[in-house]
Amino acid sequence: MTMPNDPAQTWAIAVHGGAGTIERAQLRPEQEAAYRAALTRVVETGAAVLEQGGSALDAVEAAIHLLEEDPLFNSGRGAVFTAEGRIELDASIMDGATLAAGAVAGVTRTRSPLSLARAVMERSPHVMMVGAGADAFSVSQGLEQVEPSYFATQRRWRSLENFLKAHDLPVPAKPGGLDRPDPAKGLAHDEGKHGTVGVVALDTAGNVAAGTSTGGTTGKQWGRVGDSPIIGAGTYASNGACAVSATGSGEYFIRLTVARDIAALVELKGMSLQAAADEVVQNKLTALGGDGGIIAVAPDGQLAWSFNTSGMYRGRASAGGPVSVGIYKDET
Ligand code: ASP
Repeated sequence: MTMPNDPAQTWAIAVHGGAGTIERAQLRPEQEAAYRAALTRVVETGAAVLEQGGSALDAVEAAIHLLEEDPLFNSGRGAVFTAEGRIELDASIMDGATLAAGAVAGVTRTRSPLSLARAVMERSPHVMMVGAGADAFSVSQGLEQVEPSYFATQRRWRSLENFLKAHDLPVPAKPGGLDRPDPAKGLAHDEGKHGTVGVVALDTAGNVAAGTSTGGTTGKQWGRVGDSPIIGAGTYASNGACAVSATGSGEYFIRLTVARDIAALVELKGMSLQAAADEVVQNKLTALGGDGGIIAVAPDGQLAWSFNTSGMYRGRASAGGPVSVGIYKDET
């Protein structure tokens, strides 16, 4: 039987699928339903791992796999294009029990960048790998490889064309993969820039973990890397504080070390998780001019989210409670 107040029996999970300009008037009922169904399935998948006594790391990985496979979200299949018409994926994961962490940036062929980040953490002496080296490490570890065209979707190509035209930049030749029907079948909503995915979890052993996976931002140039694979910016986890995953304008999240800052407020100032999240997102991030949001979980089972955009795709559940998902700001 689950006893919500017994730390040894408590588990909790929160997921996000990106924050941005997401308003009721913009989403058709079937689009909204598709996102809610996807988020529910992701929360349920992670929750099932935790309910069965699985680790927070395994719950994070299982839940992010679904998001990476789902073309509604900007990670894995359905990720955004760079200005050169490529898809360069970033991901990271952190184990709150040991402070072990792994991250990859600019990878192009690994089906699950999140699993590659986990392989960096568990099977290499390093924390972060980039580009061709990370792709080669992935092959050496036997992770599933796909053609870059696997990740491509028509709607992300249209977003790139619009972005490049608006910025007077040349539109590159179309890459492969765009001739097949769009797997999102008109259900995807253009959330603007931020469709990154992330999961935080607390397992019944009392350990927290966080993971984040993204294509970055549409039209990114020159090997640009955002906050998602930066430990302390887009992802952080410590059993001494909390686990955090972020989505938003990465340049601002890096400068504020958003994820670590929230953890520091919890750890050093004794703030509640929600108060710490709001202080960093609503006050510091907003003051600096950044936009986006975070999800977080603490070892005592507190869950929090905070975003300064009109919406964030999100969901959560904890032991003994229902799954709840939200999109717009006015939902709890
Ligand atoms: N934070 C991501 C980045 O800057 C983008 C996003 O959240 O969608 O790469």
